[in-house]
Parts: sequence; structure tokens; C-alpha cells
Amino acid sequence: MDLGLQGKVALVAAASRGLGRAAATALAREGCDLAICSRDEERVRRAAEEIAQQTGRTVVPVRADLTRREDIERFVEEAAGRFGRLHIVVCNAGGPPAGRFDELTEADWQRAIPLTLLSAIRLAQAALPHLRKAGWGRMIFLTSVTVKQPIDTLVTSNVLRPGVVGLAKSLALQLAPENITVNVVAQGYFLTERLRELAEDAARREGIELSAALERWEAGVPAGRLGDPEELGDLVAFLASERASYITGATIPIDGGLARCLM
Ligand code: NAD
Repeated sequence: MDLGLQGKVALVAAASRGLGRAAATALAREGCDLAICSRDEERVRRAAEEIAQQTGRTVVPVRADLTRREDIERFVEEAAGRFGRLHIVVCNAGGPPAGRFDELTEADWQRAIPLTLLSAIRLAQAALPHLRKAGWGRMIFLTSVTVKQPIDTLVTSNVLRPGVVGLAKSLALQLAPENITVNVVAQGYFLTERLRELAEDAARREGIELSAALERWEAGVPAGRLGDPEELGDLVAFLASERASYITGATIPIDGGLARCLM
């Protein structure tokens, strides 16, 4: 299938590793030039070089902290300025502080809100004029299975990520006549560096093997395994493509059957 992405320009937030990087790599493989960001200059530069080497596309690294409005605006302006246009925005960030409701402090919420909710609003605000100018656009928000089914120990995610779904749906309705689609990805457990670090940590604390810690996650997934980040990258590339022109306002689970909800 030709996804029709050759020559498009994409911006992927929080892409020095993990799911953001997988999304960036998939888009570059399909022929997009890219700007990617993360907080650490050296890491984002290295990631950009590696993706460029793997795919032969231009990948511009930008150091930006997604909790800061001015960094988000600079990220978007550097991307649009470098390529002269912008078509695709993938909104991603690090995960908010974990915990049950009564474990979370005011400081946790003050950290979570800019990272998880305001970053999505600000990225959309900054990118929209460029998508409108291009006359064609895609916004894709990476969230979590928590928008379908809350997780007891991730209350910040349960509260704030549904706000991103509300944002995406509002934008989708408003922008459908303008040839801009807006969709949400509700991912389950993927074996990223972050998930591996969490498993290594649990294994060390509990004195168990890494494989045993990972098996606990796998056991809860009907498919019996964790996702490969490349599978998420492929979904993002499809949603970004010409072929997905009639999909907008959707929240699409990619979780091996994890969320046990009907809709
Ligand atoms: P990760 O920790 O491996 O990667 C996160 C990326 O975000 C890194 O590139 C990091 O540098 C960047 N980042 C973090 N905070 C940032 C900030 N303030 N500004 C700029 N960049 C920042 O995480 P991941 O596993 O790839 O997950 C990505 C997102 O998806 C997270 O929000 C996570 O909670 C969510 N999620 C992940 C899974 C999973 O199984 N991996 C499941 C559901 C939801």
C-alpha cells in the first residue's frame, strides 16, 4: 500500500527514544522529513542522526522541554522554518508521575498537568496555523490505555489523558472541513526502554528475574505479549497517511486486547 507520505514534513515530540522515536522512524521510512525533540540536547541529536542514517531522510533535532510553552513554540517554528512547511504533528511526552490518588501530592499534579495536558494543547495551538497553511494536515495524540480503562496506580493519567481525547475530538470536528484529521492512539504495554527500566527496577527490588517482572505485564494482555514499538510506529504512519483521510476524531486502541471496554 502506498501511504502517500513521500515528501511530507512531520514533527514528533519526545522522540529521543521509545514510542516517539518509533513513530518518527516509521514516518521517515515512509518518506517524511522530520523534526524531533526531547529535553536532552545530546540524546536528541544522536537519535536524529540514527534515524536519518536508517532512513535516508532529513531529521532535525531540537532541544525542547514540553512542559514549557516557549520551548514548544520554538520547536514548531524551527521545524516549519527549516522545511518551509509542516503537515504532520505527533504529540507525545514522558509519562506523568505514577500513584494512587492519595499517594499523589500537589507537586505531582503541578508536574503532570503541563506535561500531559498543556503540552498537547500548546503543541496543537502552535502547529495549527502551519497545517492550515499547507492545506492538509494530521494531528496524532499518543495517550494510553487509561483513556479506555483506568489503571489504579496511574491516577494522573486516568484524569489528564481523557482531556487530550476531548481536545482531539473538538479539533477533529472543527478541522474536518479543512482537510486536517485529528486522532488519538490509546496504547497498552510496549517494550520501550522505559518499560524495561521499570521491570529491571521491580526485579531488583523484589529479587526476581527480569523475565519474571516482564511476564507479569504480559500475563494481563490477552495477546500474551508486550507490544513492539515498531507496531505503534506503523499505526502512526497509517493514521498520518493519505489512506487514512476518512478517519478523524477516533481513539484507536493498540493494546493486544488489554482494554476490556466495548467502545
Ligand atoms: P520513554 O520514557 O521511553 O520515552 C519518553 C520520551 O519523552 C523520551 O524521548 C524523553 O526524552 C522524552 N521526554 C520526557 N519528558 C519530556 C519533556 N518534558 N520534554 C521533552 N521530552 C520529554 O517513554 P515511552 O515508553 O516511549 O512512553 C511514551 C509515552 O507513552 C509516555 O507518556 C508514557 O506514559 C505513554 N505510555 C507508554 C506505554 C508503554 O508501554 N511504553 C503505555 C502507555 C502509555
